[in-house]
Amino acid sequence: SGSLEIYDELKKIMTERGINVAVELKEEPHEHSVGLKKSGCHGFCEMGPLVRIEPQGWLYVKVKPEDCAEIVEKTIIGGTHIERLAYQKGGEVFKKQDEIPFYKKQTRHVLEHCGHIDATSIKEYLAIGGYSAFERALFDMDGDEIVGMIEESNLRGRGGGGFPTGRKWSQVKRQKAAQKYIVCNGDEGDPGAFMDRSIMEGDPHRMLEGMMIAGLACGAQNGYIYVRAEYPMAVSRLRTAIAQAEELGLLGDDILGSGFSFHMHINRGAGAFVCGEGSALTASIEGKRGMPRVKPPRTVEHGLFDSPTVLNNVETFANVPLIINKGVAWNKELGPEKSPGTKAFALTGNIENTGLIEVPMGTTLREIVFEVGGGMRGGADFKAVQIGGPSGGCLTAKDLDLPLDFDSLTAAGAMIGSGGLVVMDSKTCMVEVARFFMNFTQNESCGKCVPCRGGTKQMLAILERIVAGEGREGDIELLLELADMISHTALCGLGKTAALPVVSTIKNFREEYEAHINKKY
Ligand code: SF4
Repeated sequence: SGSLEIYDELKKIMTERGINVAVELKEEPHEHSVGLKKSGCHGFCEMGPLVRIEPQGWLYVKVKPEDCAEIVEKTIIGGTHIERLAYQKGGEVFKKQDEIPFYKKQTRHVLEHCGHIDATSIKEYLAIGGYSAFERALFDMDGDEIVGMIEESNLRGRGGGGFPTGRKWSQVKRQKAAQKYIVCNGDEGDPGAFMDRSIMEGDPHRMLEGMMIAGLACGAQNGYIYVRAEYPMAVSRLRTAIAQAEELGLLGDDILGSGFSFHMHINRGAGAFVCGEGSALTASIEGKRGMPRVKPPRTVEHGLFDSPTVLNNVETFANVPLIINKGVAWNKELGPEKSPGTKAFALTGNIENTGLIEVPMGTTLREIVFEVGGGMRGGADFKAVQIGGPSGGCLTAKDLDLPLDFDSLTAAGAMIGSGGLVVMDSKTCMVEVARFFMNFTQNESCGKCVPCRGGTKQMLAILERIVAGEGREGDIELLLELADMISHTALCGLGKTAALPVVSTIKNFREEYEAHINKKY
């Protein structure tokens, strides 16, 4: 959105004004130099490009190249704040980033460095305590202690299912195998989701550190990161981070003389949504067609290259160094006992503050939409939120006080998924929403099993005719019957959850389906 132009312009003007521009962290900062860095995503996407001024913590929003001369003159040289570039709401001017309601209501743990550090510099990561959790795990803990700590912390997989991470690690640890693997799922394919992307782009070392700790705990010597090819910046930042860690001896053979060896590899996915499913993902890394297989055997026993494999997503691994450093009790301080910690959500749709947020597990939908999100765009009426992407369900006004955590959402017939939140106002047609997600899932069905291959096609055809005003009597019952059949008989999670958006919109907005069918819409 123009941030690179802002960076170039600031650098040019500062150089012209005789300022020594330091683009990299120096061990001994020069008193007359000014650091200028490109950071990862600050999260406040709606207000970008953003320029943060340190040490004051001021945030300038919607900055244009023509603002740069004034920023250099008044703020960098003059030390004064430019009010017109600050975030303003309801006549109030918010000078500091931390005071802006969008940030104030958040608890940023996993995203704490995104938007603050230069993601291409391992020195910056080390300077803020990076790799200290790995060092501690390497020299002060054994595998049982690490796994025990992750188990006790109740960290649950942030990729959708919420499976206990420590249990998965302990299952892999106890396998007797010559080779074991750590795989990171960075194949974030849900429409409207970009949490993992922001971590990979904004703080790649944090995720690598989590994978290295998992390797140490489970006895694996190789880690694979499966990342969408549509995320070129994430790929390049991960490559840089891996090369830097190798150069410092944090990756490779006999790391820091400990006898532990760990190597990291990157695989780029080609955009198939189904490759987010564990067995399809590992098949794709092996060079085979990305298709799910029947389970058991499970990935923890026969995963990548038929070996025991820990498969977690980006956000899950990024939580690990925090838990090792800050402790189990610290992790349990936030959120419900069975789903502690924080969760990153991508907030999109008809909402004032679109962007990337992180809140404690158990935060209500109302707090997210109306406090962090700033309410509905243009003061429109709230109608629903699609949570968890095409495999998720829709939540309505009656769910506004529902705590968002794994168990509460499952009980409500939805799922947290990877964390996409698409907010819809009263003008949104929910049948069209269901058709959109079914069209997505049907396109992404790998075709291996009949219920999903044929069932989603039938459901899409019915939804299309309803939206076109050609719906027939009995179509709603037919949709529910197909949904029931597909969810009980499809092979993998993609098929099993494909009908959730349809079922939840029929449950909550049946009158809209009927109005379409009766041509009263
Ligand atoms: Fe493929 Fe769908 Fe069957 Fe999964 S449920 S294996 S995506 S056809």
